[in-house]
Amino acid sequence: MRVLVTGGAGYIGSAAVSILLERGYEVTILDDLSTGHSELVAPGAKFVDGSLLQKAAVDSALDGVDAVIHFGAKSLVGESVLKPEIYWNTNVNGTRILLEAMREKGIKKIVFSSSAATYGEPKSVPITEDSETKPTNPYGASKLAVDYMLTSEAIAHEIGAISLRYFNVAGAYKSKSGWLTENHNPETHLIPNVLKATSDNPLKIFGADWPTADKTCIRDYVHVVDLIDAHIMALEKLVPGKHEIINLGCGSGYSVKQVVDAAATAVGREIPFVISDRRPGDPAVLIADISKAKSYLGWSPTRDLQAMVSDTWESINVTNR
Ligand code: UDP
Repeated sequence: MRVLVTGGAGYIGSAAVSILLERGYEVTILDDLSTGHSELVAPGAKFVDGSLLQKAAVDSALDGVDAVIHFGAKSLVGESVLKPEIYWNTNVNGTRILLEAMREKGIKKIVFSSSAATYGEPKSVPITEDSETKPTNPYGASKLAVDYMLTSEAIAHEIGAISLRYFNVAGAYKSKSGWLTENHNPETHLIPNVLKATSDNPLKIFGADWPTADKTCIRDYVHVVDLIDAHIMALEKLVPGKHEIINLGCGSGYSVKQVVDAAATAVGREIPFVISDRRPGDPAVLIADISKAKSYLGWSPTRDLQAMVSDTWESINVTNR
C-alpha cells in the first residue's frame, strides 16, 4: 500500500514516514518545508516539495497512492490568533484541495490529524469524543472545520475517514537514519523547553496558582511513537462512508511540576525554573478519555512520561552535537 503523508518533513510526520517504511508501506511525502525540515525527509520515501494549496503538487503527490495520512497544517495556537487567515487557508482550504484531488483520483481513505484544541475549555475531564466542541482559538476552529468537512464528505462520497484528536504529543523516534525530534522555532512546548532550561535562562512555569494538587497545569502527554501506531491501526480500520473521531492521549494527566521532575531524572540535575504569569488561553486540566481508541482501534499507549522526556533529551543531545 502506498501512503501519502502530508507534512512528512515535520516532527510527527517524519516519524510516521520512517515507521511506515520500516513496516513495509510505500510512502510519498508532500511538504513545502515551511515548518518542516529537509533533513527529516526519509531517504526511502518519494518527496514532493509543494504546498497543500498548490493543486498541481497535490495531484502529483497523489500519484499511485492508496491512502492519505494528513498531518500537513499550521499548528501554533498563538500565531493562529494573530494571523487567522493563514490557518483558514492552509488548514481548511488546503484540506479542501486535497479532498478534491483525492476524489478526482478515486482515493477514498484518509486519516486526519485533528486536535484536542477542538474541544476548547472542557466543562469536565476526562474529555470524550462526545464532549462539547468549542475551540478557543482559530487553530482549534480550523481543525474542527475539517472534522465537519470529513463527516459530510464521508457520507456524500463514500470516503473512509478517521480524525485522531491529539492531546499533548511528546518524545522522539530513533529511526535508522537518526533521531526524529521536535525542533520548532520558536519552541513553545513544555518538554523541549524544560530540557533546554539553564540557570541563566530558566524554564518559565506559566502559573502556579491553578486549581490542581501542585498548583500547576495538568496535561495528557502521548509518545509520538504510540501516536503513530494509532495512525497505522486507523489506516487499517477505515470504512467507506464512515468518519470516526477518536481521542489520542495516555488517558491520565501530568502536572508541569511532574514533567520538571521527570526531566530532572533524565538529565541527572535539577531543572532551573521560575514561576511566571499564566499563559492566555491555557485551561487548568486537559485529560483524554481514550476508551474509544482502545475499543475501536485496539490501541493502548505503551510509553510513559519518563520515556517521552528521556527520548527527547537523548535526541536533543545527539542532534545538537
Ligand atoms: N508550559 C509552561 N512553560 C513553557 C511551556 C509550557 O509552563 O515554557 C505549560 C503550559 O502552560 C501548559 C503545559 O506546559 O500547561 C503544556 O504546554 P504546551 O505548550 O507544551 O502544550 P499545550 O498544552 O499548550 O498544547
